[in-house]
Amino acid sequence: MTLDLRDYIATVPNYPEPGVMFRDISPLMANGEAYRYATDLLVDYARSKDVEMIVGPEARGFIVGCPVAYELGVGFAPARKEGKLPRETVKATYELEYGESALYLHKDAIKPGQRVLVTDDLLATGGTISATIKLVEALGGVVVGTAFMIELKDLNGRDKIKGYDIFSLMEY
Ligand code: IMP
Repeated sequence: MTLDLRDYIATVPNYPEPGVMFRDISPLMANGEAYRYATDLLVDYARSKDVEMIVGPEARGFIVGCPVAYELGVGFAPARKEGKLPRETVKATYELEYGESALYLHKDAIKPGQRVLVTDDLLATGGTISATIKLVEALGGVVVGTAFMIELKDLNGRDKIKGYDIFSLMEY
């Protein structure tokens, strides 16, 4: 069985601000068949990379990464915003259109040398995923791949993570 996953993406013009076309994965998640189909493709990719651990940024990186971790029987570590993780953390900052943001990972989230897959729902400018990669590497993890449901080609996020393998289920 093949599904066209694009049938399950809602496009919302002018959200969250005028001129932006927001790609919303929630219809895909809401459909059990489509969510499983998408997850299975991500699992195949993760298996091909011998992934030992998955890391995803708050919050949709969890939705993409956690079912893959479950299926592979590997762990998942959440990269979170300021003030959300209770124990000692490492921090990575990244640029937003106006200003800066930061993501954190627990210091013991990754073991040195571990083969890590980073996941998010969508690759846009690449800022979020490169901060996530920095966190993994700061702890000695080896980023063996990056996986997304959607890649927005025009924003050239790929250029920010040159040298890393990129897998996406859909391109816009
Ligand atoms: P980047 O850091 O510019 O690559 O933006 C990617 C991050 O912003 C991801 O964590 C996405 O969840 C979120 N994001 C940016 N644009 C969209 C969109 O059109 N739909 C859903 N999420 C988006």
